Amino acid sequence: MLLLSSCAGVRFSANAPSSDDHAALLSQQGADAVLWQNTSAEAYWLYRQSYEYASWKLESKLSDIEDEKQMVDSLEWDRRPLAVIVDIDETVLDNSLYQVNAIRQGRTFDQNDWREWTDRATAKASPGAVEFLQEAASDGCEVFYITNRDVREEASTLKNLGDLGFPFADASHLLLMDGSSDKTDRRARVASTHRVLLLVGDQLRDFDERFKDRTANHGRGVVDAMSDSLSEHFILLPNPMYGTWRDAIQGKGTDAEKHARMKAWFESNGY
Ligand SMILES: [Mg+2]
Repeated sequence: MLLLSSCAGVRFSANAPSSDDHAALLSQQGADAVLWQNTSAEAYWLYRQSYEYASWKLESKLSDIEDEKQMVDSLEWDRRPLAVIVDIDETVLDNSLYQVNAIRQGRTFDQNDWREWTDRATAKASPGAVEFLQEAASDGCEVFYITNRDVREEASTLKNLGDLGFPFADASHLLLMDGSSDKTDRRARVASTHRVLLLVGDQLRDFDERFKDRTANHGRGVVDAMSDSLSEHFILLPNPMYGTWRDAIQGKGTDAEKHARMKAWFESNGY
């Protein structure tokens, strides 16, 4: 098998990957999704539309709070500062260029490649994200970024966010992954000091860890059970490139094992 790094730039346009090049096979399977995320006007609008909806939703909650203020005894008034929680990757930052590069090289996700990408601190802002969060900040909401980027990516992430004009791009508003990808504790930490009005993410797990469970009907039952809460507090953005939905099919392990599970899924479904 050829060394992957020796053929960077030609993988995609070269002959189809050999049947034992599982990284390249998996990588090419994701090409349409990456193309959609990186180039489509549909993705562009979907992000803008979602952030416009987030903005409308936030305004409505702020207006409710003003009404509440008039009605509740001042001693009982919840005086915690207001906050919005957002995820980072594919929520406020667009990493589709990293994914394009991975496909070009016939590679699947690799932590070192990823670090190289985030060290550049050049990801673009997702459409509508800066405007929404600046508006939230000017309306008196603090912004917390809860991300599964590694703690070693702190400086580059803050630089990337700051350069793009995101508000609260500082260490006290950035909660990175410290061991677990489960964001429950980090959300609770923010909620212990702040009144969280809205959460935004590209994964349902950015709202609640219960969405990790995809065993029954790919997790749709959990969505049905929590739909009121989702509608009230969460804005979901599109990400066809990767996520819990795909991990549930591919599982953990080597690229060969993941590819075999993908193949098995397609072979056992359809009509
Ligand atoms: Mg994300």
